[in-house]
Amino acid sequence: MDFLLDSHSHTFMSGHAYNTVQEMALAAKEFGLKALAITEHGPTIPGTCAPIYFTNFNVIDRRMYGIELLMGIELNIVDYQGGLDLSSGSLRKIDVGIASVHPNVGNGENYPAYIPGDVKENTRAYLGAMESPDVDIIGHPDDPRVPVDYEALVKGARENHVLLELNASSLDPMNVRGKGGAAENMKKMLAFCERYGTHVIVNSDAHCACAIGRFDKIAAILQDIHFPEELVVNRDLTLYKSFLHRFRK
Ligand SMILES: [Zn+2]
Ligand SMILES: [Zn+2]
Repeated sequence: MDFLLDSHSHTFMSGHAYNTVQEMALAAKEFGLKALAITEHGPTIPGTCAPIYFTNFNVIDRRMYGIELLMGIELNIVDYQGGLDLSSGSLRKIDVGIASVHPNVGNGENYPAYIPGDVKENTRAYLGAMESPDVDIIGHPDDPRVPVDYEALVKGARENHVLLELNASSLDPMNVRGKGGAAENMKKMLAFCERYGTHVIVNSDAHCACAIGRFDKIAAILQDIHFPEELVVNRDLTLYKSFLHRFRK
């Protein structure tokens, strides 16, 4: 399968990533992608950009080095109702919204943006976030520290027309989510996605330009379980955009 787009990446504006928008776009182009989304962290993550950053996207040309550029955000889910860390008023200019939980941030600093609850609480948090018009994608719902009811998650995503992410960074052994169970959680989730016809998106979550489009490990999982290609939106830009509120209006 051809992966045409990467919808989750961070520039130096996120505070713990290291490249510019131009460098990320160029890397995406060189990797052969057709579209890239820049999705800086929401304000709960220390060192990320101020809310005003997300209100000025009209100054950015959405074509760069011949690829389509989307400007978005990775919002933090902050409570068990699915509350987010930035209100819709600041998000009118975004092209794509991801909602994720981040149980801790930083090298051992343990700065929680979300305190993991039990399965019921975590599932409710995700389902609540899906109801927001600012959320198009649930980011890395594979976190072994945040157990969820995958059947309910997958059904909820389908009902709310929200994409579930397969996050390449979660399979990096250096990543906190990569230290145990993320791949198993993805497989659990994918089995329900196949059963209920829920669409998924493969994203790098790149924090440096070199990580853009590195989908090999996810592609291997998809192949391994013979996951239906038509449920993976990366192969079709129009299908991808049909899940983004910005392009549905
Ligand atoms: Zn980050
Ligand atoms: Zn994240």
